[in-house]
Amino acid sequence: MANSNLISCTVYSPNHSGQRTYKVTRITPHCMVGQMTAQACGNLFKKASYEASSNYGIGKDGEIGLYVDEKNRSWCSSSADNDNRAITIECASGTKHPYSMNMVVWDSLVNLCTDICERYGKKKLLWLGDKNKTLSYVPAEDEMVLTVHRWFAAKACPGDWLYERMGRLAEEVTKRLKDPAGAEREEEHPNTAAAAMINNEEADREKQIWSFFAGKGLNANAIAGLMGNLYAESAFRPNNLQNSFEKKLGMTDKGYTTAVNTGTYAGFVNDGAGYGLAQWTWHTRKKALLDYAKEKDASIDDMQMQLEFLWKELQGYKASMEALKAGKSVQAVSDAILTDFEKPADQSAEVKRRRAAFGRAYRDKYGESGADYSKAIAKEEKTEAKPEETAAKSGKLFRVQIGAFSSKENAEALAAKARKAGFKAVIKEE
Ligand SMILES: [Zn+2]
Repeated sequence: MANSNLISCTVYSPNHSGQRTYKVTRITPHCMVGQMTAQACGNLFKKASYEASSNYGIGKDGEIGLYVDEKNRSWCSSSADNDNRAITIECASGTKHPYSMNMVVWDSLVNLCTDICERYGKKKLLWLGDKNKTLSYVPAEDEMVLTVHRWFAAKACPGDWLYERMGRLAEEVTKRLKDPAGAEREEEHPNTAAAAMINNEEADREKQIWSFFAGKGLNANAIAGLMGNLYAESAFRPNNLQNSFEKKLGMTDKGYTTAVNTGTYAGFVNDGAGYGLAQWTWHTRKKALLDYAKEKDASIDDMQMQLEFLWKELQGYKASMEALKAGKSVQAVSDAILTDFEKPADQSAEVKRRRAAFGRAYRDKYGESGADYSKAIAKEEKTEAKPEETAAKSGKLFRVQIGAFSSKENAEALAAKARKAGFKAVIKEE
């Protein structure tokens, strides 16, 4: 099994036993007994003389570090039996009883446990609250079990602060596993038939967005972190009008778009309705978007125009740009875009987790290297765009046909799409 995507640093520790001898069925959170960063904790475990380690550590700022690959047995819980089965997580805490933890540490712990359970195909995280009960329990295939260090040694670990919250940890993680980032998707795709129809177009939009930002030199973490947010905002639909305003204004996405384009609706700038890829809402931003569309002579829902506008706008958001350029992790970029750029009312840990989860799905889908993907796309487009040039040199013509239709309307629709993508398209009747 690979490691978590949530990490922002890796500091390998030599203190482990190599490959674990049991499948992962447990998670054991510990307290660091110190308000350390993930890096600082890793630096301790890096020393062989320290003779201890954990798979992960969560720093006082919520950042997650990897010290021992998940496939290996860490030296963490004073029990070979436990550590062979458990993914162990050190969490930054106070130095005295009850070893309290910052809420950002708690948030990261919930995120990391959810991520671990998801990757091992677990649907439930259990806290049985009792040593004997837990150790004699045989978890079902889809169950993960929480254990604590104090059961295996005369220690207070993980401290009463966390010990008292183990039930909540199990509940919170299980709740998230049951609702795998579903709520926002449902909102935009009210029924599955509609969702299926949208799927093809959605895939095209995904590729277009990915390659646009890869073309700007962003790495895969950065593009994915940005895309997770855009997906949450608009499901990648550039004509998306904020749902609550569809009712309020009595307009659909298409109706609103047309009315803005034709000038029959003058409220675009000041109506306070979220619109487009990034759900632009604030009047100055909507005015800038409208001006940009006019300047480019593009429809207000034109994807390329919105992407260019978005990129231009992002340059003014320092924290977002820094995160995008660093591309440290999907979570880091996603959080920066959420809190610095999108700034929705709800910026809770749950929203952060969900948006980053969307983002990671795109990173998995479009690969580690954004730049390579962009090159591949550019190459494809070049090859397809060549025939005219070749014809000029050789006198021969090589035509590329991309569709044949019995209905002229359908042919025109495809031709329009091709023109939008930058190809010359002619309709021939046969
Ligand atoms: Zn411990």
